[in-house]
Order: sequence, then structure tokens, then C-alpha cells
Amino acid sequence: MTTFEALGIDARLIQATDELGYVNPTAIQEQAIPLLLSGTQDFIGLAQTGTGKTAAFGLPLLHIIDAAARYPQALVVCPTRELCLQIVKEIELFKKYMTGVSVVAVYGGASIGLQIRDLKRGVQIVVATPGRLIDLIERKAINLEQIKYVVLDEADEMLNMGFQDDIEFILKNTPQRESTWLFSATMPPEIRKVSKRYMKDPKEVTVGKMNTANKSIDHQYYVTTAQHRYETLKRIIDFNPGIYGIIFTRTKLDAQEISERLTREGYDIDALHGDLTQGQRDKVMGQFRDKSLQLLIATDVAARGIDVVGITHVINYELPDDVEIYTHRSGRTGRAGNLGICISIVHAKEMYKFKQIERINNSQFHKMDIPSGKDVCRKQFFHFMDKLLSADISHGDYETYVPLLAEKFADVTKEDVLKRVAAMEFDRFLKYYENAEDLNLRERSRRDTNERSDSGRREERSSDRGRGDSRKEYTRGGGYSRLFLNLGTKDGFFKASFLQFILDMSDLKKEVLGKIDMKDMNSWIEIERGAAQQMIRSLDGKKYKGRSIRMNDADSGGPRRGA
Ligand code: AMP
Repeated sequence: MTTFEALGIDARLIQATDELGYVNPTAIQEQAIPLLLSGTQDFIGLAQTGTGKTAAFGLPLLHIIDAAARYPQALVVCPTRELCLQIVKEIELFKKYMTGVSVVAVYGGASIGLQIRDLKRGVQIVVATPGRLIDLIERKAINLEQIKYVVLDEADEMLNMGFQDDIEFILKNTPQRESTWLFSATMPPEIRKVSKRYMKDPKEVTVGKMNTANKSIDHQYYVTTAQHRYETLKRIIDFNPGIYGIIFTRTKLDAQEISERLTREGYDIDALHGDLTQGQRDKVMGQFRDKSLQLLIATDVAARGIDVVGITHVINYELPDDVEIYTHRSGRTGRAGNLGICISIVHAKEMYKFKQIERINNSQFHKMDIPSGKDVCRKQFFHFMDKLLSADISHGDYETYVPLLAEKFADVTKEDVLKRVAAMEFDRFLKYYENAEDLNLRERSRRDTNERSDSGRREERSSDRGRGDSRKEYTRGGGYSRLFLNLGTKDGFFKASFLQFILDMSDLKKEVLGKIDMKDMNSWIEIERGAAQQMIRSLDGKKYKGRSIRMNDADSGGPRRGA
């Protein structure tokens, strides 16, 4: 195994990485660092978050910039504010023993005035989100004339978010660029295009297989009915007393509602979604990072780029539509050599989707039984007793009180003390779970309801054939309409953000929706017939980014799929 010394980086950087506990370079670092130190080699790193890619570009940048020159020499562009702050934080740690080097984060949603002031102080490395960077360029508050190195981090995410023009603008406006380093988890054709147009003979390195699940993540799933989803979530949380996790929902309304409900029921949780102000987001993230919050519930858009150390569980309250989103969600855990668990709560009608995710991830997912009330109580009880037994009693002045306590407890047996502790600590659990029902969707209960049994079996079978046909059978039978909408991925939407957008606009719940089919310019949405008019009324004729939205019933005269 190589060492950081062997890669040729500055001794001061090695001292810092040593202190951070980096013993050996990761695969991407080993391959990228020696190339990037030349400063003239264009580079494409196909690596997901969690592979150590920030250090793979951060360390060489710090090594090659001129600390004596106080103007921007390196520009890192990344999709979100979270990621921006995280990159700056890591670079700050790496440069601990270097003097005269400054790095600044510029991102939307925060005071531009303060960022301009920071830039004026003289910095060598600027880490930016595309929108804010363009704003600063237009205000002539940043000078890119002397930028030598441009890093595009999470390039696929930036393109997904509709930043393609911005990125091209940035690349065109860095005339002295000596090298461009592009990092991306996937390689869609749009990225190929950008690399062909703006990079010369890039060296391409892939670490880990694309779309292959991280082997340090155990993928588990629990099958229940749609109406027991919330109870199942609670049971999973209760069954894992030491959990430090992120729960994902598809809409911000769900994130908010579940967070409020769990908070009312005494759980340590807060929500992260697009409606929060930057200040609120910072507060929630700060509390989660320092572990004063045990659980975070988030939408995909809001959670993009989050890198928190030590997350034990990721829970999919609902499955995402895209396999890539599943991979992104699950990648929040099992990082930097730790083991993690990714749990999905699935109901029968989603099995086809789940099987597809499993197949593309190319790893086996484990079906788990939803724990019974008794299982939960037992787990909580033993967890507490383990904590009791491992409490540090070597410090405090306990000896002063122990004889007095011993006297007080003279007539109480050890068993009684345990029972009393249990009664105090677990009364809530014992009462709550006293007559808890079995939440597992069992074969027997499926057969009880003919309709559910039919659709469930049909959809499980259909996983072998592909999802399209079976879904049509289900939706037609269930009284669905198909709507056409003139917005698509070119408008900067992901499936999840799109779903959130149409639900927020129409004030409808996601349960009314069936399959969503997104193309570049248009989308087709299956929706319960009774809700279709409300959605059309809420969207048709409105504006999105200055464009008029058109929505109509796809099967009665509007443009047809593939037309
Ligand atoms: P990234 O892929 O840059 O988001 O990095 C994922 C995590 O791995 C971060 O928490 C880093 O601090 C950590 N990390 C990066 N490089 C190493 C290394 N060589 N050894 C151990 N941990 C690392």
C-alpha cells in the first residue's frame, strides 16, 4: 500500500493528514494526486462521495498554488452550499500547517456583501456554487483572469440541477486555465460533451464500479402495508436505540409532518427541506452534526451533499424513483471504512421498484421481519442495561454516598432494583407496545384481501418483465388519468424535485400519483382520476422560470408519449 509521502505531497500537508488519521491514501487519491501535482494534466475522476475525492483534489491544489500571490488561482465549483462549506472545511484542515493560504466559500442564500469582502482580502482558492459565482462575475467582484486550476466537483449533480450553461460560462471565462479536474459519480453524455469541448486529453480514472453499492453498506428492507408505514418507521427507530441516522422522504410536506409527529412523541428529530431559511438549515445541520439531534428527516434535494461522519442508518421512508437517488441516499452511511445500514420501508405495490433497485445495485438486499413490540422492549431494556454497566464510575466522589445508599437499599434485592429501573425507564415503551400488532405484510394477510393479493402478485412477477406493463394494468384498473406537462429534465428537475414541485403547486398528496415519466422537455403523470382536475387547474397557465406551464389530459387530445 502506498503512503502520502510516496505520492509526493508537501510535508506540511502530510502532517495535517496524519493528524486527521489518514493512514493510507484512498484509491482515488492514489491515482489522482501524482497526476494533479503537475498542474497541467486534465483529469476526470469517476468517484462517488465517500471515496476521499475532496482530498484527491484538495491536497494537490494546496501543494501547487503560490501562497505568496494573493489572488484567486484555483476555483472549485460544486452543486450545493452544503458541499461548498464541507470542501472549504476540509481544505482548512489540510492547510493547517501552511501559512498565507486562504480559501473562501461563495454560495447563494447568504450575504453577497460579506463574501465580496472575503474575496477582497486576497484568497488563492475559491469554492463556489455556480449561480453565486456567476453573480459575482457579473458584479465584477471576482477576477477569474488568473485562475490556473478549475475543479468541477459532483459534475453530474450540477448538470442534473440545470447548471450546464453556467459551467460552460465559467470555463469560458477562465482564459489562463492550465488544467481542469472533473469529478463525477456518473458519466452521462452531457458531461462527455463538456469534457470534449473544454478539456485536453484528460486522464480518466474510475474508482469502484459505477452504480454498484458500497460493500460496507448492508441493505435491508421491511415489507408492510401503506397505512403502517409510519408505525413501521417508529418500530425500526425504537429497535435501534443507538441510531444516528437520516430518514428520506419524497416530499417536504412528508418530511415536515413526520418530523413534527415524531417530535410530539418524544423523538430527537428535525427536518431539512427546501422551505427552510439558510439560518434554519444551519441550525438543524449544526445540531445533527454535533449529535444533539439523533435523527434528521430530509428530502433528496435538501440533503444533497451532506457528509456527516458516523451515520449508522439511512432509512428510506419511501423508495425513490431513481436507482441513482437510492445510491446517493445509501451513500450517506458506510463511509470512510465504517459499516452502515440502509433500510427501506416497502409496501407490496412497490416491490417491483425495489427489485429493480436491487438488481441494478448488483448486491443482495436482506428482507427483515418488522420487530414485534416485545422485541423492541427487550432491545431497549438491554441497551439501557449495557449503558448502565459501562458507565464510568472511576471519577466522581461516589464513595461518599454509596454507604448511605447501601443503607437505603438494605431491604431491596438486586432483582427489585433492576425492575424499578426498568419501570422508570421503560414504562412508556412497555405501555405503548403492550398490545402492539404485527406490522409485517404476511402471505396470509395478503390472501385475505383479494384485490391486494392480485396486484401484489402481479407486480412482483412483473419485476422480471420490466415495470412498464404491470404498472399500466394497475393504474388503468385503479381509475387513473394520464396528464401531459411541458416541463422536463431540461428544466433542471430531478424526479424527486419534480414530484415535490407538482405536489406543492397543487396541494395534493403523493398518494394520488401513479407512474411519472420524465423526458427532456415534457413529462407524463399518472394521477387518480378524481384529483386530475385539481392538478391541471393548479399548474396549467402558471409560470415556471418565466415559461408558461401547459398541462392537460394526455389521452384526450394533448401530445402523446414519445410524440
Ligand atoms: P469525500 O469522498 O471527500 O467526501 O470523503 C469521505 C470521507 O473520507 C471524509 O470524511 C474524509 O475525511 C475521509 N477521508 C478522505 N481521505 C481519507 C483517507 N486517506 N483515509 C481515511 N479517511 C479519509
